[in-house]
Amino acid sequence: MSCVPKSLLPFQNCQIMKDFKYLVDEFADLKIMRYRIPDWENLTLRQKEYLYYLGEAAKSGRDILFDQNYKHNLLIRKTLEVILNSYQGDRECDDFQKFVVYAKRVFFSNGIHHHYAEDKFFPEISEAYFAELVKGCDLTELPINKGVTVDTFLDFLLPVIFDPKVAPVRRSSEDDIIVNSAVNFYEGDLTKTEVEAYYAAQHKEGDERPISYGLNSRLVKENGQIYEKVYKADGLYGEAIQAVVGWLEKANQVAENDVQRHYTQLLIDYYRTGDLKTWDAYNIAWVQDNASHIDFVNGFIEDYGDPMGMKATWESVVDFKDMEATKRSNTISANAQWFEDHSPVDPRFKKEQCKGVSAKSIIVTTLGGDCFPTPPIGINLPNADWIRKDYGSKSVTITNLMEAYDKAADENPKSALKEFAYSEEEVALCKKYGPDASVVHTNLHECLGHGSGKLLPTTSPNALKEFSSTLEEARADLFGLYYIADPKMVELGIMPDNEAYKAEYCGYIRNGLMTQLARVELGKDVTESHMQNRKLIAEWCLEHGQTNQVIEKIIRDGKTYFVVNNFEALRALFGELLAEVQRIKSEGDYAAGKALVERYAVKVNQELHKEVKERYNALGLKPYGGFINPEIVPVFAEVPEPAVAEHSRSIEGPTIIDYRVEYPSDFLAQHLEYGKKYSFLKPE
Ligand SMILES: [Zn+2]
Repeated sequence: MSCVPKSLLPFQNCQIMKDFKYLVDEFADLKIMRYRIPDWENLTLRQKEYLYYLGEAAKSGRDILFDQNYKHNLLIRKTLEVILNSYQGDRECDDFQKFVVYAKRVFFSNGIHHHYAEDKFFPEISEAYFAELVKGCDLTELPINKGVTVDTFLDFLLPVIFDPKVAPVRRSSEDDIIVNSAVNFYEGDLTKTEVEAYYAAQHKEGDERPISYGLNSRLVKENGQIYEKVYKADGLYGEAIQAVVGWLEKANQVAENDVQRHYTQLLIDYYRTGDLKTWDAYNIAWVQDNASHIDFVNGFIEDYGDPMGMKATWESVVDFKDMEATKRSNTISANAQWFEDHSPVDPRFKKEQCKGVSAKSIIVTTLGGDCFPTPPIGINLPNADWIRKDYGSKSVTITNLMEAYDKAADENPKSALKEFAYSEEEVALCKKYGPDASVVHTNLHECLGHGSGKLLPTTSPNALKEFSSTLEEARADLFGLYYIADPKMVELGIMPDNEAYKAEYCGYIRNGLMTQLARVELGKDVTESHMQNRKLIAEWCLEHGQTNQVIEKIIRDGKTYFVVNNFEALRALFGELLAEVQRIKSEGDYAAGKALVERYAVKVNQELHKEVKERYNALGLKPYGGFINPEIVPVFAEVPEPAVAEHSRSIEGPTIIDYRVEYPSDFLAQHLEYGKKYSFLKPE
């Protein structure tokens, strides 16, 4: 028996901040959420101070991404800000509201192109009205060069915003991808061939540790010469980079340990010199630090935005370890052998020595650049292949963002849960336990599932070929599904009671048989391996439990539902299928694996698919979500003069006795404030 502190329960979280509202705004195809920072109060003053400086560094690079996405984004954003801050005319009318939606979309997308689809979007107002807004605001604040009239400024600006032929796509896949892309990674009349030739000439034959060529620069063609403008403190984006460096230096004075101080100094050196060898040195030092409580990502990192896949957008994430989730995954991992020994698979396929993997979970405190407002929920860095091979990578999931997604979906009166769950009881069960049970299932999948079982000595690891990833995901999922219902989970303090697992069972079957089909185009097969795996498991259990009605298909008012009637029998079916999938993997039984996938995982019932799509679309749910950052605010010992407080965000001046977290709920206001506080770059 183990004695587990109460805090291990993810389920305890629900009660904290009961009235916290996650979903705060919706417009266009977007929804805006807030995320909370649990456990902030348990940090030391020094840790809070460290997170505060890193957070300021994360926000200081904001302008860079706007400019990288398109060369006129900063000019447009600043114009929108001046209108929002100073326009004196009617702000209640329909047109102004439409203008506000456009401005919010620009802030959301860090520019005038859709953050996901990458095509240019347009204000639903006339050019004349937009001109009226510009003329009705504080003209001295407009980003106009000296001697240029407002009319000349508008002649330039209006087509940039309104003309569908100007910069239609941020990143194009059509030839020539450089010429056709609006991104600002290439300047002058460069072609793809020229870009390729420029970088091909730099690559060194046989270099096993190549730098990330072109990662931190704009490639420019000027008077027939091609050269790089490097992003660095005294180069391109210098003013913003200097601000970032300033905050990183402050952060380093209160870092947790010398390891952190060392790699942060390397990052600062890299920002000063632009030297990509220093960037590699930083990444090598950073990836090996798993001990620190606080961590951050800050730099030019992901190259998805570049049509050539070389140049990185600027981003930042500041975070600390989620101790509760880490404890939970440690507990699961520490018991890995018990789970292996008791699993329903043939003893011949079990590992004698089983070690669980600890999944790292983090809580983010500030998002910046390309992670704001639309962050990933998992991060795996660094990106350089040779560093990953020689030094490994850090892989984390962000628990407070996952929580926010779940809770926000819950707050929406229209939810997929209500539409697709059969009864009020099912809805209540899934609301009470669903999100947390699904986190535990994911933990079991990651910490134990993939690592369980073994191949027979004669079996080739590649025996299952094109079906291997679907079957591997099914194996890990089934391991989790089987064990989430085990009394051992309650005993270990991971599940709160013997009811909670039922929420995951209902949700899993509903998703596998129906809701996930909403993401598949009508007439198409299911092709993605995680989706195939879920369909395989759900369909197999539906069929094999048919005589006992373990899962029942019910049609009510023309709508299809799948109801779990017998949870224990369903668990037995999961166990049976786990044993079979493990056998297929251990023996490398390609024919049986192929038969399973082809029979249960691929083909969609066209009538049901159509119904699911219609029901889902009728909900009108916003497909894309983004966040408002919480604000970390210094608390001073005595109330200083307001004028002083405004300018003394440094450690000099009045003593700071605490850092408080505030949760603003106005998306627009946050961006207007960021526009004032973190504007370091001049529009070109
Ligand atoms: Zn997996």
